[in-house]
Amino acid sequence: MRKARTEAERYRESVPALLQWYSYNARVLPWREEPTPYHVWISEIMLQQTRVEAVRAYYERFLQLFPDVQAVASASEDRLVKAWEGLGYYSRIRNIHAAAQVICEQYGGELPADYELLRNLPGIGDYTAGAIASMAFGLSAPAVDGNVLRVYARLTGYREDIRSPKYKKQVTEGIADALAAWEQSEAGRVNQAIMDIGATVCIPNGKPHCDVCPLSHLCAAYAEDLTEEIPMKTAKKSRPVQKKTVLVIRCGNRYLLHRRPRKGLLAGMWEFPNEEGHLTARGGRASVMQLLDTVFGKHLFSVIRTQRLSDHLHVFSHVEWDMRGYRIDIREKEPGYRTMYTASDGENVGFVWVTAEEIEREYGLPQAFQTHRLQE
Ligand code: SF4
Repeated sequence: MRKARTEAERYRESVPALLQWYSYNARVLPWREEPTPYHVWISEIMLQQTRVEAVRAYYERFLQLFPDVQAVASASEDRLVKAWEGLGYYSRIRNIHAAAQVICEQYGGELPADYELLRNLPGIGDYTAGAIASMAFGLSAPAVDGNVLRVYARLTGYREDIRSPKYKKQVTEGIADALAAWEQSEAGRVNQAIMDIGATVCIPNGKPHCDVCPLSHLCAAYAEDLTEEIPMKTAKKSRPVQKKTVLVIRCGNRYLLHRRPRKGLLAGMWEFPNEEGHLTARGGRASVMQLLDTVFGKHLFSVIRTQRLSDHLHVFSHVEWDMRGYRIDIREKEPGYRTMYTASDGENVGFVWVTAEEIEREYGLPQAFQTHRLQE
C-alpha cells in the first residue's frame, strides 16, 4: 500500500497535473490573447473584486480608451474614474493611475520585469506582482489569492482558517518550492491553471467537481470525504449598517451632484447629496432647502414635488448602507441662476448642476447611487 503523501509531495506533484490539464482546459479570456505586462496588470486588478464575466466588457472598453501605460498616466483622474464606473472599489483605479505615473517617470513607461519592483508599485500586492511576473515576464513566482488558498487547503487537508497570513505564507512557499523544479516560464501556466481550477472545478460555493479534477489522485480532502468541510473559515465579523437618505434634487433637467471628500470611502467620487439616518419626506424637503440655502444663498428655490424612491441596500467590504431615497423637484425663483453655479463646500470639493446625459458621459457615480439614478 502506498504511504500517504507528504504535504510537499502534494505541492510538487500538483504541478505536472496542472500543466497537463491546462493544455486542454485553459479558459479563453481576452487578456490571455496578448498577455503583455500592461494587459495582465489591468485585467488582474479588475478581477480582484469582480467576476470574470463582468470584467470582459470593462476590460475591452478600458483598453480602447487607454491602450497603454502612457495613456493612463496622462489621463485625468475624473476620466479614469468614469471609465471604472460599475466596477466599484475605486481605490483600484486611483492606484493604477498613480502606478502608471511611477512607471512612466522611473521605468520609461514599461512595467519592470522584477517581482520586488512590481510589488512596490501602488496597488500591486503579492498576488498581482506574482501574476504579472509569471504570466507576462515568464518569471518563477507564485500568485496566491483566495482561490489558490482554497484549492491547496483541500489538496493538503488543511483544517485551520485559510485566511490567516500564516497559511498564505505556507501556500506561497509550497508553490514556490514546487515551481523550483521547472523552467521559470512554466510558472505563468501553473498559476493560471490553479486559477481556472479554482473557478471552474474546485469551486467556492457548492460541491467541488472532484470527478473531473486533475488533482483528485493527490487530494486529501477528496480521499477523506472532507471537500465540503474544507476550507475552514472562522466566522467573519458582521458589517455595521449605516442608514442614509439620498436626495436626488432635480431642477428642470439638471441634477445636483456633490463631490465627496478626497479621503475615505468613495474618495473624490460624485454622489447625490445625502444625509445620515432615514428622513421622512418632510425631513428630506427640509434638508434640501437647508442645503440649497447654505450653498447657493437663501430663498432662491422652492420645492414643487417630492417622490419616494425605492430602498436600496449597498454592501461595501466593511460597511453596509441601508439607503432610502427621495427625488425632490425644485424650481428657481429667479430662472437661470443655478445652471451657472458650481459651489465649494470648503474642502476643495463642490456641487454641480448637470443633466442626465452629462452624468452618463462625464461623472463617475458610484454603484451605491446608481439605483436611485435609474429610477429617474
Ligand atoms: S479533488 Fe475535489 S476538492 Fe480536491 S482539489 Fe480537486 S476539486 Fe478540489
